[in-house]
Amino acid sequence: MDRMRLFLAFDLPESIREEIHRAFAPYVERYPFVKWVPPENYHITLVFIGEVPAHYVNSINEPLRALASSSRPFQFSLHGWGTFPPKRPYFNVLWVGLNFDRELLDFHRGLMRITGIYESRPYTPHITVARSGRRKVRFEGNPRIRPLKFSAGEIVLFRSILRREGPEYVPLRKYKLG
Ligand code: ATP
Ligand code: MG
Repeated sequence: MDRMRLFLAFDLPESIREEIHRAFAPYVERYPFVKWVPPENYHITLVFIGEVPAHYVNSINEPLRALASSSRPFQFSLHGWGTFPPKRPYFNVLWVGLNFDRELLDFHRGLMRITGIYESRPYTPHITVARSGRRKVRFEGNPRIRPLKFSAGEIVLFRSILRREGPEYVPLRKYKLG
């Protein structure tokens, strides 16, 4: 019981959650077998840390605080949607894309260094809207997402508690940018 599932992410303003929810609302009923992410769970993952001992949280606290305080808030705008894997008939993940500051990639490298979690794929920030689970689902929608701008002024260390009904994300620590 002293292990936790952690990830680092940006939280989203309410207006952004509402925009995404509005854009996908017509499809929620059309695709009832898809695992739709509830709007309160929308986020931008920075680093998925995974299962670690509880004391890990304290071990990364000071480096995270230092990195965050030496960074500026990041600007984003919503930028369409897509599926992963790309150009396949069936999707695993349905996401909303983002335009973002290039400095975010340096910041992300700093987070990989602090957490010791290095991903081989290039970092592509996105907001997951749905997961197909084990089913083969072909998404044939045309959601219109307005290119709303927003800013992220802090990062959040979340604990993820996986449940059959869906995950619960509990914010453990917040680090202000700048
Ligand atoms: P569920 O796994 O029940 O579908 P979830 O994916 O939302 O729920 P977690 O698996 O705890 O919950 O993931 C938390 C965040 O980290 C999500 O943004 C998820 O996409 C991301 N994530 C999870 N596993 C990985 C992984 N192996 N690599 C990269 N990101 C991951
Ligand atoms: Mg998952």
